[in-house]
Formats: sequence, C-alpha cells, structure tokens
Amino acid sequence: MKETIAPCTDTRLQEKVPLIHYQVAMSQPETHLFEVTLRLGGYNASTLDLKMPVWTPGSYLVREYAKHLQDFAAFANKKPLTWRKISKNHWQVETGDVSEVTVKYRIFANELTVRTNHLDATHGYFNGAALFFRLPGFDRQPIYVTIVPPRPEWQVTTALPAVPEQANTFFASDFDTLVDSPFEIGSHQLYHFDVLGKPHELAIWGRGNFRVQQIIADIKKIVEVEARMFGGLPYERYVFVLHLFAQAYGGLEHKNSCSLIYQRFGFRDRDKYDRFIQLVAHEFFHLWNVKRIRPQELEVFDYDQENYTSCLWFCEGTTSYYDLLIPLRAGIYDVKSFLNNWGKEVTRYLTTPGRKVQALSESSFDAWIKLYRQDANSGNSQMSYYLKGEMVSLLLDLLIRSHHDNQRSLDDVMLKMWQKFGRDEIGYTPQQLQQVIESVAEIDLSDFFKRYIDNTDELPFNQYLEPFGLQIVAETEQEPYLGIRVSSEHGREVIKFVEAGSPAQLAGIDAGDELLAIDGVKVSASHLSDRLKDYQPNDTISVAVFHHEELRIYPVTLAFPRASKYLVQTVDNPSDLQKQNFSGWLGASLTSMR
Ligand SMILES: [Zn+2]
Repeated sequence: MKETIAPCTDTRLQEKVPLIHYQVAMSQPETHLFEVTLRLGGYNASTLDLKMPVWTPGSYLVREYAKHLQDFAAFANKKPLTWRKISKNHWQVETGDVSEVTVKYRIFANELTVRTNHLDATHGYFNGAALFFRLPGFDRQPIYVTIVPPRPEWQVTTALPAVPEQANTFFASDFDTLVDSPFEIGSHQLYHFDVLGKPHELAIWGRGNFRVQQIIADIKKIVEVEARMFGGLPYERYVFVLHLFAQAYGGLEHKNSCSLIYQRFGFRDRDKYDRFIQLVAHEFFHLWNVKRIRPQELEVFDYDQENYTSCLWFCEGTTSYYDLLIPLRAGIYDVKSFLNNWGKEVTRYLTTPGRKVQALSESSFDAWIKLYRQDANSGNSQMSYYLKGEMVSLLLDLLIRSHHDNQRSLDDVMLKMWQKFGRDEIGYTPQQLQQVIESVAEIDLSDFFKRYIDNTDELPFNQYLEPFGLQIVAETEQEPYLGIRVSSEHGREVIKFVEAGSPAQLAGIDAGDELLAIDGVKVSASHLSDRLKDYQPNDTISVAVFHHEELRIYPVTLAFPRASKYLVQTVDNPSDLQKQNFSGWLGASLTSMR
C-alpha cells in the first residue's frame, strides 16, 4: 500500500467526510500526562462515537487503555457539548447539528514497555492504540497528527510521513496505520542510514555501552539477509526505536518500524549482544510475518476485544526460529553460537512440564488469557507458542530440507506465504498455512500437524536431526530431584515454582511458600543445589517453609536426578551425506563443530 501525503487544509470538508486531526501536547512531561486534542471538521451526524482500543496488535492481551484517560471534554464553537459513556472504552458526544467538534482529554503515560505509553522529563513515547480514539465508521479515513513538544530541542521520530511545511505534523492513511506507527519524542540520538537504497532511521533513548557503528552495521546485514529471503523491502522508509534502561527486554513489530527495549549495559558481553541482535532480527522479520502475512482472524483488527487465532505459533514461533538463523546467515555469529543458542532453547522447552498439557494451537488461541497472564501454575500447564513454535519450525525446515536435498526449505514456505497472502494482505486460514507447507514439502503433513501442533506428542528431535549429523544429548543433574525453583527476594527465599508430580509437590510444598531450612539448617536459593548434592535418591529430608506465615515442616523423599540441560552435538563418525546436509542447512562444515 502506498501512502499519499496531503496537506491538512485539503478539500475533504466539501466531500462530506470528516477531517480528523489530533494534536498531542505534553506541557508538563514530568506529570506523565499527554494532552490530546481531537479536531473534527465536516462532521454531519447528531452523535459522535469515540472508542479507545483495548489492545494493540502484536501484543495479545486486553490492556484496557481507556483506564489511563482523564479530563474528557467536548466542545463546539467553544461551548461544551453533552456526552456520556456507553461502555468502559466508549464515549458518545451529542453533536446535534454542529459540524466542527473539538474533543480534549489527557492520557496518563507512565508504563515503559514497547506496547504502552511513557512520558517523563526525558522523553515521550506512545502507541496509537493507547492514545487515540477510533471513530467507528471512519476507520478508513486519513488522520493528521501534530505533536507539540514541550521544549524546542525535542525532536519527533515516527514511521508516519511528515506533512510538508507543517511543523511536527504527520499523516496516517487510516486508523490501522496510526495504531501501527508509534512516536518517539525527545532529545534521543537519531541516526540515518540507507540499506538497499531505502532510508532507515535508528532512534536511541537512554545511555548504554553500545557502539552505534557496530549496531548499524549489523542491522544493515540483517535487513539485507531478510530482504533477500522475501525478494526486496516492501516499504519506502523504516524506523528502529530503541529504548535502553536497566534489566529490560522486549520488542513490538510494525509494518514500517519496530520498538525495542533492551538493557543499557547489554552490548559488550558477547552473549547479551547476540540476544540483542536476535531481537532486531525478530522484530524486523515480523514486517513480513504477522504484519503483512496475517492469519485470517487478524486480517481486520477488532480493537474492542480479543482476536482469537490458532496460528500464532507460525507468527511468533517461526519468527523466533528465524531470529536465531538470520544472524548466522548474516555472519554476525558462527554456527557454534547458533547451535549453542538453540540448545538453550531446547533445554527451556524440554524442562517445561506444560509441554505435555497444552497443545501448540491451543497455546496460540489462549494467548490472551494464558501466555500474557503467567501464574505459579503456568509452567505446569502451558507451553509458549514462541518456544514450541520455534522447535516445530526447525523440525519442518529439516523435514523439507532432507526430502529435497537442501534444495527446498522453510524459506520457500515463507516466500510462498508472502506471495500468496502477504503481498496483498489476504488473511490465511490454518488449513491454507498447512497446504502451503505441504506444497513446498511435497509431503502429507496431516499426521505431523495432528501430533505436534494440535496435540502434545513429544517432538522427535533426534529423528529429524540425525540426517544433518546432529543429536540432542541430555546432561543429568548431580543432585537428586526435589522439583522446586526458588528465588531470593528482599532477604526471603521464595519458592516460585513447584513442578507437577515432583517430590516437593507430593509432599505438600506450594508455590509462594518461603523456604527456610533443609534438615534444620537454613538454605538459600543460591545454595539449594549444592545442599541437595549431599543426599542420595530415596533419602528423606525435612523441608521447613512458611506457608501463609505458618511454619510447616514436610518430610520429602528425593527422587533420581533429572536432566536439566540439553546439548546439541554432532553424531559420531558422520557420513558424507550428513556433512553435506549440515553445510547445506547452516552454511558451515560439520567438522568445524568438533
Ligand atoms: Zn514476535
């Protein structure tokens, strides 16, 4: 879709469609309040409905953005108009026969995440879904946004095109585009660079130990590798917004931009830098997968309620598989790092008991009530569609590759999904997704989908890895198995997780209990593993905890040690075919792994 830039003073008034113009001011940023003014011209109905979205695409949780709204007022010819609330996020203004309406409100913005709003003395950041009203019936109308920064040195960065000769004024071709284009306002560092002839910007808020030239060089490589996969860049300009602060991590994808949050001192350590680069590769990959290649249920966003889809495993999990693979292809890290990183993901997967309870398609469908709403039972009852989706995507890639001598791969699935659905933004159904994968693989995958996507069968990693000369090897813990995870919180040792069916659970230990002592001696989270190494399987220990402030002492019989770590290793004496398959997949020699 191409955007046309029209000046604010166009002729829509004569066409009997309203001209929608938002102004966003922030005269006292330290109060965290954005001051929003909506000016509506050429309006010709007796009531005006205004609805604040309850969620933002890409983050599947009802966040009730309307809760941050205050001081609502509506005017015509400077006189107040009557209004009432219809529901939690729905305001209705009596407009009578006026055609020029002004609506004013303020939005409290003090939540520093990629999908919420944040305003303080250092900057302003907002997402359209959390700041602007949707006008039902006028979703396809263009919208103008003028930003009024509190200080002259504050600049405005957004993927929306600027309206010429109107200071800090931007144009969105419709409401979806407005919601899909977050704003960064402040004295952030702004870098411009071209990739494949197209302009890109990187806006960085916050100090950190990054080297900007390294980040830009690596971003360029990622953009090039992903563009090559999909046959070019489907945008005219792209913006990366990067927020840096303490122990932060997160990203949100958009069509022509992405927002990233990362720890400010996470750029020198190699592993941490790799994780940052994977985040970039992930959000950028989404500009195709999920922003343009969308499940049918996300083809038209319903901003009033949950949009259920069973395909998030493909949107997020496949994107997660590629966020590991792309930096390898871009030469940012080597094949050892790739397999190390993947081994860590396999470990996370195989040590999550919920994989035996929740199927991948169900995890996707229930994202709204489960993945985004973790509790003490989540590990026992849920499987992340990111993590298992990534595992399943790797298996599908290996399956296609081994059936076609590496001449076909999951890349062909992505390209086909792009050509068939993404380019014209036609939503796909789960059946169409399966058909595309099957058409590339030339294999009937109904059994695969039934077992690994719609049910909870264990994934046969080694069966799929063996043709590529690799295997997953379990490393067993030294200590006997108790089955709890503990963390130190303000001097208290809190049991965060009790594994279903573990000795700890069978004995009665509960998540939330405060761990005090084992066999009468104080124990801390950091020393728990060492303390357990002094015991043997079948030994009975006494575990003292506070359960709701009451002292409880449980006898617990320890079990045999469990595998706590899984490594990806090469098979012994790999054949020529295995070596060939490996290098066809990862572009490196299998013997380099030894
Ligand atoms: Zn994602």
